Amino acid sequence: MNSMEVTLDTSGIAELATAVDTLSNSVFNANLNALADGDVVELMQRLETCKRKLSALDSRLIIEACNRSLPKGSAAKDVVPFLRQTLGLSKYDASVRVKITMQCGEFFEPTGHLRPATLAKTAEAYEAGDISRDHVRNIIDVMNHLPTDIPAETRTEAEEILVGHSRVGWPDDLPKIGRDILARIDPDGKVVSDVDRRRRRGLILGRPGVDGMSWIEGWLTPELRALLDAVFAKLARPGMCNIDDVDSIAATAKAVDSKVLDAAARRDRRDAGQRTHDALYALLQPGVDPAKLGSHRGLPVQAIVTMSLNDLERGTGVATTASGGHVSINEALEMAAGTRPVLAVLDADALPLYLGRCDRLASPAQRLALIARDKGCTRPGCETPASMCAVHHIADWGKGGPTDLNNLTLACDHCHALVNDSAEGWKTVVMGKDSPDRGRTGWIAPKSLDPTGIPRVNDRHHVGERVAAAIESSCLKWGSRAA
Ligand SMILES: [Zn+2]
Repeated sequence: MNSMEVTLDTSGIAELATAVDTLSNSVFNANLNALADGDVVELMQRLETCKRKLSALDSRLIIEACNRSLPKGSAAKDVVPFLRQTLGLSKYDASVRVKITMQCGEFFEPTGHLRPATLAKTAEAYEAGDISRDHVRNIIDVMNHLPTDIPAETRTEAEEILVGHSRVGWPDDLPKIGRDILARIDPDGKVVSDVDRRRRRGLILGRPGVDGMSWIEGWLTPELRALLDAVFAKLARPGMCNIDDVDSIAATAKAVDSKVLDAAARRDRRDAGQRTHDALYALLQPGVDPAKLGSHRGLPVQAIVTMSLNDLERGTGVATTASGGHVSINEALEMAAGTRPVLAVLDADALPLYLGRCDRLASPAQRLALIARDKGCTRPGCETPASMCAVHHIADWGKGGPTDLNNLTLACDHCHALVNDSAEGWKTVVMGKDSPDRGRTGWIAPKSLDPTGIPRVNDRHHVGERVAAAIESSCLKWGSRAA
C-alpha cells in the first residue's frame, strides 16, 4: 500500500477519469504504423502493466464500499450482486474480484487495527502490475489447497514460490507448480485435514446447453464419495438400471435374479459414465430408499469404513473405505454416528473388534472382516478395491475347505478366475507362522510366470499403513521434512 496519502475529492475523480481517457485516446488515435516492431511490443507490455495496476485497485474500492455498507444498503444486499448491479459484471467476474479482495485486501479489524493482506506478497506484486488477475486467481486456488495446519513459514515460502513464478511465467502453469509444492510438503496427502477437505467441497451443475444437457463438476468429501461408491457398486453394474433397457434390473427390485442380471449385462452397451448416470437417476426415483437397496456381493449397500483400534484411541490417522478411499478418523466416526455406514474396528492383529450397524451379521460379518483385513484383491500387484471383490475360499469349499475367516480372502472377478488346478492356474495359500506375512493370503503363480513357486502377498492395499508407521516412528515429521 502506498504510504504517501493523496487527498481525492470530486474534481479529483474527474481528473483521474480524464487521465485514463487521455491514455486510451492517445493509443486509439495514434498512428501505430510509425512505430518500430520493438516499440509495438513495448507499448503492449506497458499497457498490460497499467491494466494490471488498475485492476488491482478493485480491491481497495470494494473494501471501501463494504466499510460503508453500500452493498447491504443497496437492493443487491450482498457484495457480488452489488458489483454486478453497479458495474454490469458477469457473476464469474464479480466473484473473482471479491475472492481476490478477501485474500489480497487490507481490512480494518473491529479493534480498529489494520489487518495486513492474507497473501501480502501476491498483493504487492499485483499492485505493482507485475502479475495479472489470472495469476492471482490461480495463486489463491493453490494456496487454498494447502493444508491449514502447515507452519506459517512453509505457507509464506509456498506463496513466494508462486509469486516468483508468476513474475516470469504463465498463470496456466500455477496449478502444476501447486501440485509440486503440495507433494513436497505433504507427500502422502495425510496432513490435509477435515477442515481443508470441507472447505473445498462443492458440486456445480452447469447451465443447461442448447441440447438440454448439463455439465457437472465439483469436489466430493470422502464421506459423500464413500456413500456414492457403495450405491454405485450395486446400481451402476452392467445390467442394472439401464435406461435404454426396460428389462434391466431396477433399483427397487427386492431380489436380483443372477440369470436375469447376466442376460441384461450381456445386452448392456453403456460405458462406465453412462452407467453411473443411470444409477444416480435410478436412486432419485420415487420409492427408492438408499438405505434399503438390499445387498451387493453379500453385504448391505452401505459405506464400509475400517480403522485400527490404535488410530481410534488416538483420534488421529486414516480410515479406509471399501472402495479404496481414505477418510480421517474424525470423519469416519461422524459417518458412523449416522445410520448408514458400517464401521469395522481392528485390533493390533487386524481382527475385527467391533462391527457397527450392520443388519445381518452372520456371513456379512466375515465379508466385513475381510474388507477390513485385506482391503482389496489379494493377488500380488492387483489394485482392485474391496468393493469390487468377491470372497474366495483359499482351500476349495468343494473339497472340504471351511468357510472360516482364515480360509477366506478377497479376490476380484478377474483374479478369482485365474485360480484353478490346471498348469496355468494360480494357487492360493494361507501364509504360515514363520512368514512375516503370517495369516495373509499368498498367491503362487503358474510355473510359466514364476518357476520358484514361492507364494507372494499383495502389498498394494497396505501402503498407507506402512507410511503411517514410518511417520509414527520418526523422521517424516514436520520439522525434519522442511529441509
Ligand atoms: Zn485382482
